[in-house]
Amino acid sequence: MAKNSFEPQSCFEHIDKLSYEIGPRLASTEGSQQASEYIKQQFESYGLEARFHNFDFVDKITQIKSRVIILIGVLLGAFFLNLYLGSLVSLLFVSGGYGVAYFIPYLLPKKEEKNVVGILKPETDIEKRIILGAHYDSARCTKGRKWTLFFRIAFPMILVAFLAFSICGIFLGMTGWIIGWSVLGAPYLFVCTLPFWFYEDLVSPGANDNASGVSIVLEVARVLSESPLDNTEIRFIAFGAEEEGLKGSKDFSERTAAPDFFLNLDSLGSGDKLSVIQGNGVIRKRKTDQLLNKKMMEKSDLDIVWAPFSGHDHISFLKKNMKATTLSSIEYQEKNKLDLFLEKFFSLSNAHIFRHSYLHSLEDVPEKISLENIKKSGSIVLDLFAIEEDKT
Ligand SMILES: [Zn+2]
Repeated sequence: MAKNSFEPQSCFEHIDKLSYEIGPRLASTEGSQQASEYIKQQFESYGLEARFHNFDFVDKITQIKSRVIILIGVLLGAFFLNLYLGSLVSLLFVSGGYGVAYFIPYLLPKKEEKNVVGILKPETDIEKRIILGAHYDSARCTKGRKWTLFFRIAFPMILVAFLAFSICGIFLGMTGWIIGWSVLGAPYLFVCTLPFWFYEDLVSPGANDNASGVSIVLEVARVLSESPLDNTEIRFIAFGAEEEGLKGSKDFSERTAAPDFFLNLDSLGSGDKLSVIQGNGVIRKRKTDQLLNKKMMEKSDLDIVWAPFSGHDHISFLKKNMKATTLSSIEYQEKNKLDLFLEKFFSLSNAHIFRHSYLHSLEDVPEKISLENIKKSGSIVLDLFAIEEDKT
């Protein structure tokens, strides 16, 4: 049986290659270039049809900075317009400013990146199509992940609050509120984006996030290339620029026909327990494919968690109405107050904002990867594919 020949040792070789030898792999840099070439060579060495899919993207920091500059300008402008021309003019100005801030990414310079695709065709007719993927880029080190969290919560609140105050100002004659908010809003916006302005340009070696996922994609590809599933085509993908806002998976999901399902592997090398991501988001909740999750959980002992503020590459596929989920892992730690608050008021089940302690840091190194997690992930993926094969 194919699953017996899954070699965790090969996974560790890939992880060492990606996170030690190549090291940091920020999208559109020398590191990510080397990583994509390495992955393509591996696919080719297993006899897969391998190719690059190129795409453009705007990097996250540039996008955040330009939005913040525009919005601070809007708040200050609104303050003076309020004083001299009244609240209606000010509101129109603010609405226009929000529009510019929204569309600004389309005008910013783009960077180039690529997905690496390896296709394994069956010897028989194709009746099923499966996609197995993991992102290969690594993230900038966040100075205290709480800042990013704070930003993600505070940013939309500032925008909504300002709009609400402006409307109150016009209809209830509360001009003072608008002026007050403009004066407070501008520095507040600046403060809550501080880490983005004073970024040390450190990039994580990304052993867990996500050389671990890529290593399993590669090893599963090798195993299955030796004994392909009947009637099933598998596309193995290493996504670029996930940390810049799921850019690679977005591009791929726009080019591909709907598969039978997409399984994403992200950050499963360290942590106490492998788990399925049940969904993401707080106000707009996005659930992963329930049936697929159930199938995976029937076979192995897995947790299921809700990831309120994280993005995963399955989201790009869910947006296109395709069946998708992510296998990840979780460290056992007390839920924080925000987790409990979200569970209570937004009816999220098993919410965990922080699931890994070394994520997006210089400490995300191969020593933290557990053999057990790698072994188990390999068999979960191969078992799932075997169930699918039996059904054809
Ligand atoms: Zn990741």
